[in-house]
Amino acid sequence: MNAPLRLPVAFAALAWSWCAAEPVAPLSAPRLAVVIAIDQCRADYLVRFGPYFGDGGFRRLLADGANFENCYHRHAITVTAPGHATILSGVFPSTHGITANDWLDRDTWEMVNNVEDRAAPLVGLPADQPLPLRRAPKAGRSPKNFLATTVGDQLKLRFGAGSKVFSASNKDRAAILLGGKLADSVYWVEDGTFLTSHYYRDALPAWVGAFNAGRRIEKYYGQTWDRLLAPAVYDAVQGPDDAPGESAENGFTRTFPKQLTGGTPGISPKFYAAFDNSPFSAVVLGEFVQAAVREEQLGRHADPDLLCVSFSQIDVVGHSYGPDSHEMMDSMLRLDRVIADLLDCVDREVGLKNCVVVLTGDHGAGPLPERVQALRPAIPAGRVNVAELDAVVKPALEAAFGPAPKDNYWFTRDGFGYHLRPSTLAARKVRAEDAAQVVKTALLAVPCIAQVFTRAELLSAPAEGDSVLAMVRRSYYPPRDRDVVIVLKPYFMNKTPTGETHGMPYDFDLHVPLLWFGAGVPPGRHPERVGVDDLAPTLSALLGVPRPPQAQGRQLF
Ligand SMILES: [Zn+2]
Repeated sequence: MNAPLRLPVAFAALAWSWCAAEPVAPLSAPRLAVVIAIDQCRADYLVRFGPYFGDGGFRRLLADGANFENCYHRHAITVTAPGHATILSGVFPSTHGITANDWLDRDTWEMVNNVEDRAAPLVGLPADQPLPLRRAPKAGRSPKNFLATTVGDQLKLRFGAGSKVFSASNKDRAAILLGGKLADSVYWVEDGTFLTSHYYRDALPAWVGAFNAGRRIEKYYGQTWDRLLAPAVYDAVQGPDDAPGESAENGFTRTFPKQLTGGTPGISPKFYAAFDNSPFSAVVLGEFVQAAVREEQLGRHADPDLLCVSFSQIDVVGHSYGPDSHEMMDSMLRLDRVIADLLDCVDREVGLKNCVVVLTGDHGAGPLPERVQALRPAIPAGRVNVAELDAVVKPALEAAFGPAPKDNYWFTRDGFGYHLRPSTLAARKVRAEDAAQVVKTALLAVPCIAQVFTRAELLSAPAEGDSVLAMVRRSYYPPRDRDVVIVLKPYFMNKTPTGETHGMPYDFDLHVPLLWFGAGVPPGRHPERVGVDDLAPTLSALLGVPRPPQAQGRQLF
């Protein structure tokens, strides 16, 4: 009779873990990584508003963390979806394929949304709320179009159910693209409701349903948004409250105080639009994320968890009032409090010493053109209606190659660029590159246009360097992209008749904050130039997982 094989317990455990090749995070790995994205957050906001922040938010991160003061996006099309897709994948739109918020599908010749997926209908819409458009097939949402792997995906690949990946935002694309392909839970807000899609789950969990049932957003109807500090403080930092070029939409005036009604006698789509423009939308998102930390037990699983949150209101208020407005300053001061409350919550629930926090932006924004011109009228600046460029492109193509055949056309405009219609090129026996060169020559005569690139020029462009051509190339994914791409001159923006926007390869659109805080982060100021594409490799190393496989950025510390 064989004696039973007896091993010391510790050795048995070691042998089992060796046999099972059970992945184990490094001893020093944080319990929870918190990734905070601020939509349209210019890096200089942390400097100009710094003296007015409280102690618990940005100032806490700055005092005890690592501040990479010169962090830039390195792709040219600086809009929300490409920026968020880069933050946790560490790769550019030329790889992850999210080239814009919308693009023309060259197979169907229809516009598609970056996170559109007809196979993944929305989950959580209230039955009593008529939202016919959002119930349409095109309203389905998933990361189907996202062609890269994120840090969260790496956590799930390595640890499986031992690690939880949670992502939330006011915007669908921000939440979905930060979360990646394998996220456990992804939520965003549509008309007052936090919801998800069938890609993630078939029903809302009870705590999200209860959060929605509180109708917290509707309770803001009729409330007043006024400045936190004395108006003179805002005058000194930002200039006058009422500035030329600001928008007044959805019942909001251009000056404080503002009434939050949407300009309608009850809850309405305009009310929800005004709410999204108000700093209260960041407050409610902060409350939602705090509930997630508690309800989803984030930071208390066997392996590291990841919490992603993207605050969209800074982008909305920027589009209306611009970077130099009282509204922007007040929104940043209030977001500072929301972030302070979130950090306090994470400290209570998990312990900040057990966490790593990283904060960045998806893009920046330019000044209102009116402000530039008021400073010195000779500086070229202005507003562009991109649709008016068609009146330059069409005659140029017709002069060179004749009119398009009956019932057809030469091109479809897609953002700042043109797709040439293959059937028309074939009918007129014109090579696409020859037509693209004609379009380029015509557009270069337009005063607000800085540069124009054709598909052939982009395909042979260098991948490295910080030239405008290299940045446009990193934004270019050939199967989805255009035959001609336009770059405007600085201080010209595609926004009429008022408001502000972003999307070009200039410092004000590219330069974003990059703050690190917590476990494994050496505190200090770092003046060297780094890329947002360095975030994913660095966070992967802190969490003890391989970097996303296509990421080529640097590990910052
Ligand atoms: Zn954005």
